[in-house]
Amino acid sequence: MSRHDNRQAHEIRPVTLEKGIAPHAQGSVLVSFGNTKVICAATIEESVPRWMKEQNKTGGWITAEYSMLPYSTLTRKQRDSSRGRVDGRGTEIQRLIGRSLRAVVDLEKLGQRTLWVDCDVLQADGGTRTAAITGASVAVELAGQWLVQQGKIKELPVKNRVAAVSVGIVNGEVLVDLDYIEDRDACVDMNVVMTDKLDFVELQGSGEENVFSPTQLEQMVAAARGGITRLLQIQKTATT
Ligand code: UDP
Repeated sequence: MSRHDNRQAHEIRPVTLEKGIAPHAQGSVLVSFGNTKVICAATIEESVPRWMKEQNKTGGWITAEYSMLPYSTLTRKQRDSSRGRVDGRGTEIQRLIGRSLRAVVDLEKLGQRTLWVDCDVLQADGGTRTAAITGASVAVELAGQWLVQQGKIKELPVKNRVAAVSVGIVNGEVLVDLDYIEDRDACVDMNVVMTDKLDFVELQGSGEENVFSPTQLEQMVAAARGGITRLLQIQKTATT
């Protein structure tokens, strides 16, 4: 059965990575997964959080923030600052992005500095968190390259690349990289984060008023691995 945009079940959307989108950041990229577009920018601050100093922790720190720009959604999404309340979904997503990046960044090699990674959704059409992780990995690598070029550190503080894709079950079929319409119709929804060694960083899977079998879980993980392999190739082309 073909998908509404004529993709194969295991095919990701067209993915692009446009580097240098935010010139004041040390590393930045506009990542597109089809109509989902996220600006990922990595900024270096020459200090570490106070708790690290107090606990005599060596090395640096990395922290991620995620937000959807008001005009990124079909109906305008109010900014947290005007709403006066922080959005729980955004908090959950930025913690996921932070964990994904901490799995691959060498904080000792980063030295006593903080890497701020800002992911701002320009256009949302499903899979904004997976696009954000995939783009953030590139933005961090570019910021690491900048640190080396500036002579601030000797080696790239990045151990691996990390990429993520969504998978789901729609009408009994495993689909990769769901857009908004497919995500809405999915009875199982999963986000998979892997390194370029194809090790898992995180699996987030849930049956939406449904259940899924161990076999379906295996099928989804295998399909996600295929999508992530393609994303890793695109990241590699963008950074080398
Ligand atoms: N979405 C939206 N407004 C919101 C949250 C989500 O329009 O406040 C849409 C958006 O297209 C998003 C999709 O719903 O990409 C799926 O959202 P989900 O929470 O599953 O996260 P995502 O798939 O973007 O990681």
